[in-house]
Amino acid sequence: MNHSSNELATQSALGNLALRIDGAARAASLRDTVAAAVPAFVAAAERPPGLAVVLVGEDPASEVYVRSKGKATRESGMLSVEHRLAGDASRQDVLTLVRRLNADPAIDGILVQLPLPAHIDEAAIIAAIDPDKDVDGFHVVNVGRLALGQDGFVPCTPLGCLILLQQALGDLAGRDAVVVGRSNIVGKPMAQLLLQQGCTVTVAHSRTRALAEMTRRADILVVAVGRPEMIRGDWIKPGAAVIDVGINRVPAADGRTRLVGDVAFEEAREVAGFLTPVPGGVGPMTIACLLRNTLVAACRRASLPPPPGLAPGSGKHQR
Ligand code: NDP
Repeated sequence: MNHSSNELATQSALGNLALRIDGAARAASLRDTVAAAVPAFVAAAERPPGLAVVLVGEDPASEVYVRSKGKATRESGMLSVEHRLAGDASRQDVLTLVRRLNADPAIDGILVQLPLPAHIDEAAIIAAIDPDKDVDGFHVVNVGRLALGQDGFVPCTPLGCLILLQQALGDLAGRDAVVVGRSNIVGKPMAQLLLQQGCTVTVAHSRTRALAEMTRRADILVVAVGRPEMIRGDWIKPGAAVIDVGINRVPAADGRTRLVGDVAFEEAREVAGFLTPVPGGVGPMTIACLLRNTLVAACRRASLPPPPGLAPGSGKHQR
């Protein structure tokens, strides 16, 4: 699928609803691509790619994430290793484990599940991970590589957003992009990726003035704020591609809870050209990109070329 901005605007002017970007389907396809490439790696390296996940403490949400990451890793044919440390583990305990995993030849990717308990300095732990095994892309070396346009590891959520945008729009060069949110794990790397693709990028945050005027100029709008349905339909340029990263749990009519994004979906789909739903949009791409990064890490460590179909579109606009 590949539509020009004019086609997108026309589509909306005709009153059509936005095309829903099916993140679950795109994620399934990326996971299939990874799984299909694993046997060739195993044949060449005589071992599977290996991902180690470190969980400290018993945060229930983190438990769920770690379990689903492990399951997805095994389903793709890779080695999944989980290390669980008690909530009162010391910073030194975590550092010792990370260093052991750095030295383990069977491990290509190390993921320390965040947040860590308050008494452990996250920055120090991330800094201890070998940058070439840092499949989350949080190490300062990978942050620097991304800023300089060098090969490294890109955080999984913004990488997933880029893949969805490229699938919807094709070449992104020349488009006006607004990223709302400037966190280190989503907003900032997202802005870097869009800049690399030749977009003109504006990054908005809690101190931004006249946010709605800014978002209304965006051909591409990526929202990662964590405020339920903050972006209204009339904040969106007709025909824009809108990526909703937010995951917010709100009370539902039946007394239970439901998930909503940072974008008011029903309003936005009357205006946007493309729109990701929540759930089923960006979320599934995050795990698929983690598997992708792990396989790429394994190939680099084994001096093998990365399998085709895993890279986001050409970096030809990169400087
Ligand atoms: P953070 O809380 O780290 O960052 C939120 C950003 O939003 C900050 O930069 C903040 O600005 C900005 N912000 C807050 N309020 C406003 C406002 N009123 N107007 C404009 N900007 C505002 O969140 P994350 O980046 O970690 O996550 C964002 C959302 O994405 C959350 O809902 C999270 O659950 C979800 N998420 C989803 C993932 C997925 O896989 N789908 C993965 C990661 C996150 P400032 O910097 O000025 O404080």
